[in-house]
Amino acid sequence: MGEVGDEQMFLRATGRSFVGLSAELERSWRGPFYFAMGADPQLGLWDAWSRGACGTSGTMWERELALTHEAVRALNLLRPRPRFLTLCGDLVHDMPGQPKRNEQMKDLRNALRNLDPAIPLVLVPGNHDLGNEPTTESIASFRHAWGDDYFAFWVGGVRFLVLNSQLFVNTKACQREGEEHNNWLGKELAECTEAKKVGKDPQHVIVLQHIPLFLSTANEEDGYFNIPLDLRHQLIEKFQQAGVTAVLAGHYHRNAGGSVGPIEMIVSSAMGCPLGQDPPGLRLVTVTKESIHHSYYAMDKIPTQIDLGPC
Ligand SMILES: [Zn+2]
Repeated sequence: MGEVGDEQMFLRATGRSFVGLSAELERSWRGPFYFAMGADPQLGLWDAWSRGACGTSGTMWERELALTHEAVRALNLLRPRPRFLTLCGDLVHDMPGQPKRNEQMKDLRNALRNLDPAIPLVLVPGNHDLGNEPTTESIASFRHAWGDDYFAFWVGGVRFLVLNSQLFVNTKACQREGEEHNNWLGKELAECTEAKKVGKDPQHVIVLQHIPLFLSTANEEDGYFNIPLDLRHQLIEKFQQAGVTAVLAGHYHRNAGGSVGPIEMIVSSAMGCPLGQDPPGLRLVTVTKESIHHSYYAMDKIPTQIDLGPC
């Protein structure tokens, strides 16, 4: 992989794949590895929340910004290095059209620019990034700033699918994008399903998205924080056929999750403003040949050394 320039670090998701994490380079298993996951840095929420008006613009975001700097500092010290950092959506609080959005994005980007260039940054769109009702324009604007809103990539023999979960809940103003996303996902899952049948499957298939499929059980009622029940069950069935074993999401600002069949739903709390008891932090996810395990760390408790065991 060539040098990744300053702005290029935000635009590596392109052509529905990710520069440097291609099948050519990363298709084969080379032993255990780990990656880092953050969700909802959401610069501006803390201020809006403390005023009891989280739907309004966040006019200050020093706390979230300090936490983002702290996360980047901790990640840069980690050895071995995480194979990538994913931010699972809600990068900033102000939605498209809200007044502080550009300033929040500028500050977030400045903080993320300090990330060790050896750690690729994998960005996932959330409802605050696209709007609760995404439009063709809001999606185009996300792509312009942060790269593709859905794509797939490889790391050490493991297939990762990044989904645009907002298109699961509202496509009134972006039907074409919704259909394209569904078609693309169907094709990706079908490829995994076929590969599995002939025994050439990836070591694991892992999905990254913003809205959790569910918070604790697959049959729980529909709500703001999960995917609608009918679609949820369709996705779970297709994910199972394709060999998906883990789905990682944010959006809930609390740690949660559960399992359905072989799929673990991992809901990770926020890098920014928490809405429950969990402190702001990051999750480190270790992938071994047989399994995926993970731990959530408060931002000031992130270790400096990860033991991946015998390779
Ligand atoms: Zn969200």
